[in-house]
Amino acid sequence: MAVNVARALATRGYRAGIMHADIYGFTVPKLLAIQGRPEASENGIEPMESQGLQVMSMGFFVDDTMPLIWRGPLLIKAVDQFVNKVLWDTDLDYLIMDLPAGTGDVPLTVAQTLARASLLLVTLPELSSMKVASRAGNMARQTETEIIGVVENMSYMTCPECGESFHPFVRDGGQLLAEQLEVPLLARVPMEADLGSDREGAGLLVDRSDSAAGSALLELAVSLTSGS
Ligand SMILES: [Zn+2]
Repeated sequence: MAVNVARALATRGYRAGIMHADIYGFTVPKLLAIQGRPEASENGIEPMESQGLQVMSMGFFVDDTMPLIWRGPLLIKAVDQFVNKVLWDTDLDYLIMDLPAGTGDVPLTVAQTLARASLLLVTLPELSSMKVASRAGNMARQTETEIIGVVENMSYMTCPECGESFHPFVRDGGQLLAEQLEVPLLARVPMEADLGSDREGAGLLVDRSDSAAGSALLELAVSLTSGS
C-alpha cells in the first residue's frame, strides 16, 4: 500500500519518497525491483531511485533469509538514521513511511519524534486487522499525531470469470475504524485476481489504471493532495 500510494502521488506529478521502516517484511525493494545497496559517504546515505521515487528500506541492509532479531534500540536507531542521515531530496513533496502494524517501537518513535508527520491508517475489512489499526490510531491521538484517514485494503474481489464482486472478509472494518476515530474512509481498494503472482513489480496495482484497484489508488492520491 505504501509503495502504491507513493507511486500514485508521483503519477500526479509530485516528488515522492518512500521510507520502508517495516522490519517484519522486506517487500519494498522487491516490489520496485531494486538491486544493490545504497551508497554511504561522510555526507550521508544516498537513497535508491526507482520508478520516479526515492527509496530507503531496511531491506537493503538485511539479507531476507536472515532471522530477525532486531530489538527496540536498534530499530529506533535505524529510523533515526533514515530520517536524519539519508540524503532525501530537499524538494520532496511527500515522504511516505511504511511502518509495521500496531504500536511497536517504530511507529511510536515516529509519532514521538516527527511532529509534522501524519498518519494514514490501512486496514483489512476484517475485525482483527481493524483492531490492530485502531490501536495505532489511538496511539496517534495520544501523541497528537494527525490522522488523515483510513484506507481499507482487500475490500472485495471481482470474479475474473463472470465479473461479479464478492467479499472474502465479512466485516466492514474500514468504515467502522473511520467512524470510531472520526476520520474519513478515503479508499476501498479491492484485491486483484493475479496479485499473488511473484513476478517483480506484480504488486504495483496503481500502474494498472484500468483495474478497479488501480483507479481506487489514483483517486486516493487525489484525496491526499487536495488542498496542497
Ligand atoms: Zn464468477
